[in-house]
Amino acid sequence: MSEKIDTSKLIGAIRSAIHSDKSFVGLHEPVFQGREKEYVVDCLETGWVSSVGKYVDRFEQMLAEYTGSVRAIAVVNGTAALHIGLLISGVRPGDEVICPSLSFVATTNAITYCGAIPHFVDVDEITLGIDWGKLDSYLSEIVRMEGKRCYNKVTGRPISAVVPMHTFGHPVQLDKLAEVCSKYGLELIEDAAESLGSFYQGKHTGTFGKVSAISFNGNKIMTTGGGGAILVQDEELGKWAKHITTTAKVPHRWEFIHDQVGYNYRLPNINAALGCAQLEQLPYFLERKRNLAEQYRKNLQGIDGVTFFSEPPESRSNYWLNTLILNAETQNERDHVLEQLNDNGLMSRPAWTLLHKLAMYQECPRMELNTSDKLSKRMINIPSSSFLGGLE
Ligand SMILES: *Cc1c(COP(=O)(O)O)cnc(C)c1O
Repeated sequence: MSEKIDTSKLIGAIRSAIHSDKSFVGLHEPVFQGREKEYVVDCLETGWVSSVGKYVDRFEQMLAEYTGSVRAIAVVNGTAALHIGLLISGVRPGDEVICPSLSFVATTNAITYCGAIPHFVDVDEITLGIDWGKLDSYLSEIVRMEGKRCYNKVTGRPISAVVPMHTFGHPVQLDKLAEVCSKYGLELIEDAAESLGSFYQGKHTGTFGKVSAISFNGNKIMTTGGGGAILVQDEELGKWAKHITTTAKVPHRWEFIHDQVGYNYRLPNINAALGCAQLEQLPYFLERKRNLAEQYRKNLQGIDGVTFFSEPPESRSNYWLNTLILNAETQNERDHVLEQLNDNGLMSRPAWTLLHKLAMYQECPRMELNTSDKLSKRMINIPSSSFLGGLE
């Protein structure tokens, strides 16, 4: 095989962009330089480490304010946020839920927890997320409407929601997607797990539908150790989300009355304490990540065979994970490039295995997934921690 990507040049360019000669550079490492210790110690000293305490309320208020949401409900992880988000949006057993195949497995797992069936649609190369145009023409062919209800003509099942995912932090075209959703009577539930700090047309991702989910896992732009949040744009749904994630207990001084099947999904106070300190630093993380992306863009310009993925139009991305895209001539060098980068201490990863190829999702309905197929063979994520890039 004659190689078209000069990997030593590529490694040099990445090293210049990150301003680091450390022998191992992780893909995405957390940074705890704010008041994390102070807040966590406060939990330990007061004994409020678990399901009660001031940091949960404070964290939820900070999140609602930052994202411009009516309410934010902190939960144990992003998958749980998505699960409850789908549930309170009316996703029911036997429904089909539209989602991208190019996503992390949590998206389809949460749909499955509701007894619903993922229905895979393609992404576009501008956003790496759901292609609204393709979705619109696909739905016009495969669905029939009964009043405001949308049914898959082939399977006979109702289609109840669309779950776009903002890949690596890059927003999908939410205005267009919201139009498609309302045309077919579908709920828009954003998997905004990767996009805290990303905005579309000046509005925070995760606020375009009534309900969305974000994640604070250790590798995300900010972390609570493990954690997530449901963002809600409707007062009543917000109350329900809080109730159902806290075992659906009816407030009473001593009686244990629970008025529906609830979930023990509440974020512990000690994790929320970490969250408050991290969220205080989010603007700092975002500034550094934009700088790192700019360094990558400049330094990778001269490297043949690869393109650095930049934020889509009308968007301000958090650049959670920086991404290289190989071209048609170089895509068969992907594993070689991955090997070289990892061997040289630059932790790099391919995109996820497309979800429709996983054993449990192979039989799910789907459209042609040409762009997802193409992108998944060509993408490489490169080191993206916020302390890289040379800004002090
Ligand atoms: C991280 C992530 C989630 C949620 O993950 P948790 O680990 O449960 O917090 C969901 N969807 C996507 C696309 C993610 O990247």
